[in-house]
Amino acid sequence: MTNMIKKVLLVPISNIEYPVELSPIDITPYMSGNTDVDYVTTFDSGQPGPHVMISALTHGNELCGAITLDHFFKNNIRPIAGKLSLVFANYAAYQMFDADKPSASRFVDEDMNRVWGPDVLDGDRSTTETRRARELRPIIDQVDLMLDIHSMQHPTPALIICGPLEKGRKLAKNLTTPQYIVSDQGHSAGKRMRDYGYFGDPSSPKNALLLEAGQHWEKSSVSVSIDAALRFLKLNGCVEANWLEDDQLPLPNSQSLIEVTDPITIHNATFHFAEPFTGFECIKKAGTILGWDGDVEVRTPYDNCIMIMPSRRLYKGQTAVRLGRKID
Ligand SMILES: [Zn+2]
Repeated sequence: MTNMIKKVLLVPISNIEYPVELSPIDITPYMSGNTDVDYVTTFDSGQPGPHVMISALTHGNELCGAITLDHFFKNNIRPIAGKLSLVFANYAAYQMFDADKPSASRFVDEDMNRVWGPDVLDGDRSTTETRRARELRPIIDQVDLMLDIHSMQHPTPALIICGPLEKGRKLAKNLTTPQYIVSDQGHSAGKRMRDYGYFGDPSSPKNALLLEAGQHWEKSSVSVSIDAALRFLKLNGCVEANWLEDDQLPLPNSQSLIEVTDPITIHNATFHFAEPFTGFECIKKAGTILGWDGDVEVRTPYDNCIMIMPSRRLYKGQTAVRLGRKID
């Protein structure tokens, strides 16, 4: 069978739709915050301790993070040590959320999680997202430990992205949840906030994790997000161990560490997957065709290759999928 025939049989992954079970909440009460930057609130305990940050809405269509921060605010969150910053990152994109087109509000002009390299931040590209990143930068420069809350295109198990460094892997293991930890280098399209500045410096104690709490609009993403954020705050001594105890989920029996070996960046005008992958599929045999970048076959590089977050945004320059192997 030729590739052309195979392509006709493909299931176009972008046609899969998922129900929108969540509604966006009103975040305008948090606009003025208590800092010079809109939608940033920083509480100072007056006690020694790290500056911890929880960030939501780096992508405007990922609702669970905003609902998590709202829940914490409504429960009068205050740090007992160090400082705590709660950030609604791309609020402008979030304000465009439309349940009939729920994917459309991921960003206004460009992906805000690809603008964190010095080339972009110090450059002259002016978009809604670069301007917002430059506003947030002085805050993030003071942060020691950050959790950036996201959700995913497909309803696969929650995961933590810990970046490429040992310190990130350690922090993810210390968090003890969720079950899957993904260690990766990021995207060729641009640096993520998780990898910004000292977070990406192996000699610095500053550290960051990115949570993918489940599918964008599934209800359970909220409980996963609240649980992980609570554990992150408690791990870092920011709140009492019994604060919002009833919101904690049972821990997974163990965690698996998956190392991304091959981010598949799209080089051609079209990309098609060979199967309707949704994530965590384990492809047994090396050399299996997983898709076509234009007419170029993309094959698995080794046995037991794990598909991480196959994308529905199959455009040139974007990451189609990350290929990983279980290492722990
Ligand atoms: Zn995201």
